[in-house]
Amino acid sequence: MPSKTQIAIKLSRLKTFENPKNYSEQYTTDSEIAATVLWHAFMKGDIQDNTLADLGAGTGILAIGAADLGAKKVFCVEQDEDAITTLKENLDKDEKKIIKIINGDIKDFNEKVDVVIMNPPFGTKEKHADRKFLEKATEISQTIYSFHKTSTLDFIHAFAKDKGFAIDEIIHFKFPLRNTFAHHKKKREYIDVSCIILRKI
Ligand code: SAH
Repeated sequence: MPSKTQIAIKLSRLKTFENPKNYSEQYTTDSEIAATVLWHAFMKGDIQDNTLADLGAGTGILAIGAADLGAKKVFCVEQDEDAITTLKENLDKDEKKIIKIINGDIKDFNEKVDVVIMNPPFGTKEKHADRKFLEKATEISQTIYSFHKTSTLDFIHAFAKDKGFAIDEIIHFKFPLRNTFAHHKKKREYIDVSCIILRKI
């Protein structure tokens, strides 16, 4: 099994979005943050021998880390074909055996899984874009690791209560958004993002 440092280095070397699409809020999760959350999930027994789904998998950073940490199977659901092309380029021989890529909308994905791990669009472009990801996650899984803007935590608390999920943990991060889009003036911006761990009551 790789160490946390090995995972972080591996993830830092993956290819990211070539032509990020602004309307879809295509930001890759920072590799250090991805490694931190994946290692935490591993230590909590939520990865090894589990079946996972990465909803809005993008170029696959979360799914690849999970596969390397011993997941039995990881579904990557992604609607953007360009992202899928890069995701495929990112996979090594062993990861290809574990990761199943589904090119489509998350609304059509209905496999039951042990754990969902996802960094969905934050809903700044399309309002409540993250809501449909959370809805789907609660339909297919009893354990969810999901990234959201910290400013929307009130919504997550209400959502969890409504769906019969408890918030097990919240991990706060300063999320670096690289200067991918022309409208970002500063070279590097940080936004407050939290990884929320939800478990069915
Ligand atoms: N999880 C990746 C990518 C985050 S960006 C990472 O952590 O790096 C969010 C991704 O969700 C984008 O790749 C976008 O194309 C995808 N996406 C947005 N809406 C979707 C939908 N309805 N169905 C499937 N994928 C979607």
